[in-house]
Amino acid sequence: MSLHVRSTIQLQQGILYGPVLSRRLGRSLGLNILPDEIKVCSMNCGYCQYSWTGILATQPALYAGFLPSRDHVRVALEAGLGRLMEEGTPPDTLTFSGNGEATLHPEFSGIAEDVVALRDLYAPACRTAILSNSTTVDRPEIRAALELLDDPILKLDTAVEGTFRRLNGPARDVSLAAILRGLRAMGSRAILQCMFVNGRVDNTTPEEVSALVEAVRAIGPNHVQIYTLDRGPADLDLCPVPTERLEAIASAIREGAETDARVFL
Ligand code: SF4
Repeated sequence: MSLHVRSTIQLQQGILYGPVLSRRLGRSLGLNILPDEIKVCSMNCGYCQYSWTGILATQPALYAGFLPSRDHVRVALEAGLGRLMEEGTPPDTLTFSGNGEATLHPEFSGIAEDVVALRDLYAPACRTAILSNSTTVDRPEIRAALELLDDPILKLDTAVEGTFRRLNGPARDVSLAAILRGLRAMGSRAILQCMFVNGRVDNTTPEEVSALVEAVRAIGPNHVQIYTLDRGPADLDLCPVPTERLEAIASAIREGAETDARVFL
């Protein structure tokens, strides 16, 4: 992998996008249940490929008018998935991703049920996944919805409060303690995703890695996915981490937390 990264990308337009070839998910049909015009997220990560967050919030009242309804999502997925199956090009994964944090959608639980039902009907070999930032995982109803999906991939970039604030820029009512509590409740159903960066914020120091290993040990996830910048970051003072350092962090997690850890480049 080159240490040169590309620029940030445009927001996704529409409910479905792709299938895109993903480092971790194969041919992934993206599900964007957030607005086309603005990124709605409970974090404002300096490394975000969609640039800075437009609406930084956890409260649906602030963005409800911008969201597609559960019915719209179901109709769009049924049409798109049906077409791909007819064409003989089924996706490997149906993935909640897109313009922010999908679990902030007030109808997320019902939408997750619909996605699983449509997958069962049209593409039973396809997996269901979400890339989530974990800020809602402390809520029992969100955990129940996440557990419907085959691969709940949940962010944990650091277990150090100060680094969490500087790297992930969370909304005021988001706490690292609640995220860790929610992830521990998910336990082995969680797949952790850890983004490592160097530059203005560095979450690869020995102190950082040791705190993360302790957190991973307490969570006991299915496995840990380790990666670094590929797309351009919002914060141009962040840069990718060399592959050897990522591999060393993966080894530290495997040994210290007794959990499988894989580097994705
Ligand atoms: S949580 Fe994801 S979508 Fe939100 S700002 Fe961070 S990287 Fe971007």
